[in-house]
Amino acid sequence: MNTPQAQSIAIHPVDGESWQQQLANSPFSAKALLEWLELPNELLAAGEQGAGDFPIRAPLAFLQRIEKGNLQDPLLRQVWPLIEESQTPPSGFVLDPLGETSSNPTPGIVHKYHNRVLLVVNGSCAIHCRYCFRRHFPYDDNRLSRQQWLDTLGYIQQRSEINEVILSGGDPLTSSDKRLFDLVAAIEAIPHVKRLRIHTRLPIVIPARITDALLTRLSQSRLSVIMVVHANHANEIDGNVAHALRAIKQAGIHLLNQSVLLKGVNDDADSLIHLSERLFECEVLPYYLHLLDPVVGAHHFDVSEHNAIALMAQIQKTLPGFLMPKLVREVDGRASKTNIPIPVNQQD
Ligand SMILES: *Cc1c(COP(=O)(O)O)cnc(C)c1O
Ligand code: SF4
Repeated sequence: MNTPQAQSIAIHPVDGESWQQQLANSPFSAKALLEWLELPNELLAAGEQGAGDFPIRAPLAFLQRIEKGNLQDPLLRQVWPLIEESQTPPSGFVLDPLGETSSNPTPGIVHKYHNRVLLVVNGSCAIHCRYCFRRHFPYDDNRLSRQQWLDTLGYIQQRSEINEVILSGGDPLTSSDKRLFDLVAAIEAIPHVKRLRIHTRLPIVIPARITDALLTRLSQSRLSVIMVVHANHANEIDGNVAHALRAIKQAGIHLLNQSVLLKGVNDDADSLIHLSERLFECEVLPYYLHLLDPVVGAHHFDVSEHNAIALMAQIQKTLPGFLMPKLVREVDGRASKTNIPIPVNQQD
């Protein structure tokens, strides 16, 4: 990779780099990414405009799984801003589709579901997914001081109905081990909490994040630990990712995956079947398949509920029940995700 071209556009090789180095090297200018992906120059203006709204970010460990020059590549579409991002969205697409700004009782907490609470551990992500519903979330207001963390933990302590704490973000695994371990210890000290869930895309994006130290600490917890990773397409799971996922499972951590149904990425039966099969090879069970949250800048990823149901009915003919994700959407103001029922197939 030590070619003059690679140097001139400042995209670094991965081999031997720590996860922190990979993370630090991952924000890119539109121009650098365009050149590295060998995309036509005509796309640059849209790329720059999109990056102005939500910066481009994708570590090389992820970019290496993309077929260069192929604008249809399912991974490329997740990280490269298309012109549609800057176009006026259809009605119904808003800045905060989940009303998270208003379910924020104290900074750093989103408490919408009775017995589980979501902690915004860290505002940053290793990758910026162009469809992300949090692309306009006021993360800066959620970067907590030590005192605010104590208040947050106090909130959980005072509510004995909370039996599960979900570490979310952003991506909680962009935090250092030290910070995470302190937080895990504080949660373990609250007797009514039974489960710790970590919602993270890092095992998929930078598998080197799954260090022995992290797995050892989590495996020693008194809490049941569940890791919910986020892959949308089987191509995201290369050999290094597979290795990391199997190591997580071997540490006694339950492994689930959530995906978003995305036009041009995984909105066909083959892609969805392949994804479930590949996840299972790596010890991961599919959990949710989310309909896109209608956030400004992402309307070109939208798949209608009607088409989503038809796809689910189709993959149900092939996949065993335990490899069927649940099709859900999030409706602001409800006490859980909203399950979308799939019609029963008649036998041919
Ligand atoms: C999705 C979500 C959860 C977790 O919901 P599950 O159905 O238990 O996976 C919890 N809190 C918030 C705010 C959520 O958006
Ligand atoms: S990793 Fe998750 S929170 Fe971060 S940009 Fe992607 S979808 Fe959004």
